[in-house]
Amino acid sequence: MPGTVQPPLSIAQIDREIGRPFHKLSFSAPIERLFLRDYLKARAPMVPLWAFLGTLFYVVAALGDLSMMPDVASMAVGLRLGVFVPYAAMVVIIMRLWPSAAAYDLLSLGVGVLGIALPMTALVFSTSEYLFVYQTGSIATLAFFVIVLRPRLPTILIGLTAMLAIQIVTTKLNGGFDDVTYTGIVSYYITAGMVLAASACFTERMDRQNFLGRLRGEALQAELTRLSEREPMTGLYNRHVLRRIGNRIWARSAPGRTIAAIMLDIDHFKRYNDVHGHVDGDACIRAIAGAVREEVGNLGAVFRYGGEEILVLMPDAARAQAAEVAEAIRAAIETAAIPHRGLPQGGVVTASLGVATGEIDRRPLDELLRDADAALYEAKRVGRNRVRLSGSPTPIPEMA
Ligand code: GH3
Ligand code: MG
Ligand code: MG
Repeated sequence: MPGTVQPPLSIAQIDREIGRPFHKLSFSAPIERLFLRDYLKARAPMVPLWAFLGTLFYVVAALGDLSMMPDVASMAVGLRLGVFVPYAAMVVIIMRLWPSAAAYDLLSLGVGVLGIALPMTALVFSTSEYLFVYQTGSIATLAFFVIVLRPRLPTILIGLTAMLAIQIVTTKLNGGFDDVTYTGIVSYYITAGMVLAASACFTERMDRQNFLGRLRGEALQAELTRLSEREPMTGLYNRHVLRRIGNRIWARSAPGRTIAAIMLDIDHFKRYNDVHGHVDGDACIRAIAGAVREEVGNLGAVFRYGGEEILVLMPDAARAQAAEVAEAIRAAIETAAIPHRGLPQGGVVTASLGVATGEIDRRPLDELLRDADAALYEAKRVGRNRVRLSGSPTPIPEMA
């Protein structure tokens, strides 16, 4: 469906598809959807050009009607101009208004069948002595349908069968071909049809294999990007990507646009490790990273800045909003009530946070981080488990 966001495919999913045999020339549903999207993307923009060229070839072939079937030329030319040309125009309009792979295949089928049926209908009524040469023109229509329009294989098989049937029946109905010539025509078209069908089958198979290879390349690329940006233990952004994201934010700076940085450090974490061990220590960092991510939501980007230090960058956040988010993070960590047996009287894990804000085009990233760090240091100094704003030595009233 246009506009639907597809979940990204995993490399394992794509590898499973690569391992499957190609008997049916179709993929499992999610991959088939992507293939059809590509299929349509490659063909839909070409439809006006193909309609124009196809019509041009077809109308030029009317010269053959005039020279080889003069007795029915007005009928043949009339069918070309009165039926095929409007049909080609309709194809362009339908593909513009309701583009889909199924519509493309169906409309291509119509091009192939009409392309053969119209001149061959006129041939039924002709007594010209040049009909043998005339009917060879159908091979161009078969080739246009299979090689230029290239619908999917089931459509090609249905189309070729219908087109060959029309060719064979109309030639017979004319009654002017002797048995040997007629048999020759039948065997010629059946052979040509089989060769075209086989080539279409191999072409689609190759298209599908190439598609899977490309899909795998894209999935690997996305995975590499994700791995290079994320820190594996918490899934937060790592320090490397901080510069890249920072540059992106600062590149979009405009007068008056603000930025906030929140720096968090877990309180008495050395003692936590000493008492609970490093495995629980890791789990504790992961739980706190999750809490921070949940509170920040899509208001900003969350980085694992150091061992148990987390940084939040919030573009467009004003001072009050950043202070609110920082306080929500602090409260969420405290209410998570992760026991900290390293503290007297069975305390819980807490964190201290420093907040710095400024206008993007006046504060470089490093300066903002330095100020957030200084505010964090202040929060530690005055007792921990609290938020301090850079440039506010006293706590704001609603905060601990
Ligand atoms: P403060 O309240 O002043 O922050 O005291 P603190 O003990 O937390 O001091 P500090 O922030 O300097 O200590 C950080 C400790 O965090 C040191 C290190 O053992 C621990 N740490 C850093 N990274 C990891 C990690 O990935 N896993 C675990 N388990 N511990 C870590
Ligand atoms: Mg620390
Ligand atoms: Mg600490």
